[in-house]
Amino acid sequence: MSKIRARYAPSPTGFFHIGGARTALFNYLFAKHFNGTFIVRIEDTDTARNVEGGIESQLANLKWMGIFPDESILNPGNFGPYKQTDKLKRYQELANELVKRGLAYYCFCNEEELEKNRQIALANHLPPKYNRKCLHLTHEEIETNLKKNIPYVIRLKMKDNVNIEWDDLIRGHMSVPTSALTDCVILKSNGIPMYNFAVVVDDYDMQITHVLRGEEHISNTPYQIAIKEALGFDKQPISYGHLSIITDETGKKLSKRNKELKQFIEDYRNLGVLPSALVNFLALLGWSPKSNQEIMSLDELVNQFDLANVSKAPACFDFKKLLWISSQHIKNMNEHDYLNFVRNYLTINLNDFVDRKFHDLILLTFKNQINYASEINQLIKETFSGSFDQLDENTKNYLTSETSLKILTSLENELILVGELNLDNVAVIVNKIKTQTNVKGKDLFMPLRLISSYQQHGPEINKILVLFGKDKILKNIRSIKGEKIWS
Ligand code: GLU
Repeated sequence: MSKIRARYAPSPTGFFHIGGARTALFNYLFAKHFNGTFIVRIEDTDTARNVEGGIESQLANLKWMGIFPDESILNPGNFGPYKQTDKLKRYQELANELVKRGLAYYCFCNEEELEKNRQIALANHLPPKYNRKCLHLTHEEIETNLKKNIPYVIRLKMKDNVNIEWDDLIRGHMSVPTSALTDCVILKSNGIPMYNFAVVVDDYDMQITHVLRGEEHISNTPYQIAIKEALGFDKQPISYGHLSIITDETGKKLSKRNKELKQFIEDYRNLGVLPSALVNFLALLGWSPKSNQEIMSLDELVNQFDLANVSKAPACFDFKKLLWISSQHIKNMNEHDYLNFVRNYLTINLNDFVDRKFHDLILLTFKNQINYASEINQLIKETFSGSFDQLDENTKNYLTSETSLKILTSLENELILVGELNLDNVAVIVNKIKTQTNVKGKDLFMPLRLISSYQQHGPEINKILVLFGKDKILKNIRSIKGEKIWS
């Protein structure tokens, strides 16, 4: 097999979206699995719809995901230009060549006429195809129109009564009769190519071997194959694979109008989802590894990726699964990397909660608790904002029960004897309390947790005790004992 060249070809008509990111990733994983080349090409011919910052958003977020194109506008290879508006002349020349060879033709119909014909076709329950009026213009009529400067587009002359077929890498054999297709425009009157034409020229010029893209492009593929044949580019074969749609949890296709679900890569980056986690999650949107291992690094994904296990069934964007994958990637980080990562997402002032020397400890304490980095702000605030009064009656009774008070008194005695708490002496103290009171398990740890954070759940108890510190805990014990006496 010749070297694989796969591409991701975004139109900068918006910011880097989950769907685009999944397409980019699958092309990358496929290419890299076979030591091939991954190319990013910018399809910016729909100038009216391009948004400012669209290109940057695609490239910067791909980089953030750890996906570095081998060729792109930032690092061009030998097959450029990598942006379509930089090669308009090439498309124009090829379109005109097709006209010369009788495989395409000038169409002078204006919008109004086209719309009228469209309505007639629809009224007759026919597909709204171009009626080929201009295909039959004489040479003289064409010359006259050109002299009069009547605007024209170039249309491909679609072959009659043949089937256009391809073996889809994901969907198997596909066949579309040309009777279902129209003589599509390949070059607009302003000299800008239509999407299908530019794609074919670029895929050829860039020697693309495989095209993986979203299901919404299935209807474009027969047009592209027809254009490829007309241009004589079919001698350089391309395999197409169409990825399934991505749905939300109700089974509806992800739409940018669904404001409840964060759909842009930037959203997840801002939340503090690790790029490796997002990549891991996206890879599982339609692909399943042969092994049962779900948590994977980019390298592992490259190793294991296999088109045979890409499904054509819709892939559900399960936000809870994303959170779980994200939490696992955070858990797997080493402490140094974790601290550097999570610090970038702090919006609270840690000094409001603990002394400076405990800044690292407080961050590490929540390493196994958070799903994404920015969540730490809320968790710290919640942990440090508890109070006895906020506890429900049962928990209040539990904390002031005889067993709990026995533990708290033992803790009080130990705290009086110790200097500042640290992870070492806390471990010794907790053990002593266990021996002294003969209580273990939940009944030992719950009163300790409640008396520090007034929360029933939370991170490792020893860390919580150190973070709250001797003075605060002693104060809480004494106030509880007071409550007990007063009640
Ligand atoms: N530019 C197209 C898009 O953004 C992709 C074209 C393709 O992959 O062939 O949807």
